Amino acid sequence: MQVKNVDFLLTFKCPAKCQHCSYKSGPDRVGFIRPKESSGYLKGLTKMHPLQSVWVHGGEPFLYFNSLEYIIKEARNLDIPRLGVITNSFWAKNDVFAKKKLEKLKKVGLTVLTFSSDFFHQEFIPLKYVKNALKAATALGFEKIYVDSYFVDNVSADNYFNQITKKNLEILGDIEGVEFHRFPMSVEGRGTDLTEYLNLMAEIPTGNCPVPFWIEGHLQNPATIEIDCEGNVTLCPGICIGNTKIQSLTKILQDYDVDKHPILSIVSKEGPIGLIKLANEQGFQKNQRFVNECHLCYELRKSVQLLYPYSLAPEYCY
Ligand code: SF4
Repeated sequence: MQVKNVDFLLTFKCPAKCQHCSYKSGPDRVGFIRPKESSGYLKGLTKMHPLQSVWVHGGEPFLYFNSLEYIIKEARNLDIPRLGVITNSFWAKNDVFAKKKLEKLKKVGLTVLTFSSDFFHQEFIPLKYVKNALKAATALGFEKIYVDSYFVDNVSADNYFNQITKKNLEILGDIEGVEFHRFPMSVEGRGTDLTEYLNLMAEIPTGNCPVPFWIEGHLQNPATIEIDCEGNVTLCPGICIGNTKIQSLTKILQDYDVDKHPILSIVSKEGPIGLIKLANEQGFQKNQRFVNECHLCYELRKSVQLLYPYSLAPEYCY
């Protein structure tokens, strides 16, 4: 496997507890990636892989600011060109705080910032904080500044959640130098509790795995990996190819073979529907309806998670 991008899920702890969160992050979660661990990962990776980007997210990475700062600094010292962070802006309580935090990150080499803003995040984080953070970021001048918003069902669906999100985005307004991205929410993790607001398919979905866009390729040779604070190396949320507490990252990547992975071998050949035989043996409820292939994939994996604790991790996703 030739890795080009690594995402650090620095922590699953978060001051928010968004209803759509794939990782079920929240204030009650514990743990974070320590500087020494991240340094080991980055040094090991850059010896064998042409790393182009490092992103830090979670959970909320600004909760462990020293570790976040350390990762960016270390990645800059290793000449990795694109260094980004995704945040909900909980720390930008006023202009002074916002500027102080972002100045520090700019100084150590941060190039890209993504701010999350939608109905879900603004249930916990005042929109004013996002405004403060955007103001500081644009004044300091990063290579790219994004606002990512997640919509319920699809980006043009007219429902209560999306109306609030659209209104908030109008309040933020068009800001020079900021790109706004709108995505439909994924139906996995905590998001599966929102199915009553989603369009469900009449028939069980039988299509192929769409492969997450961030993987930049295919499941045989993915270009992006995520490493979380429990040591799990994941491709899609909840699908794990190894754990760094058990095996070195180098060995995990060297040994990766999609055809040997108990879940991905099936999903890549037959699509998520291929998992139904395994799930049926565990009493999977056949009368459920689904939004799409990924929703089906998640529910089938959830029903067999206990049988594959190393391949279907982190456990908390389920
Ligand atoms: S959730 Fe399953 S079907 Fe969807 S992209 Fe991930 S592995 Fe593929």
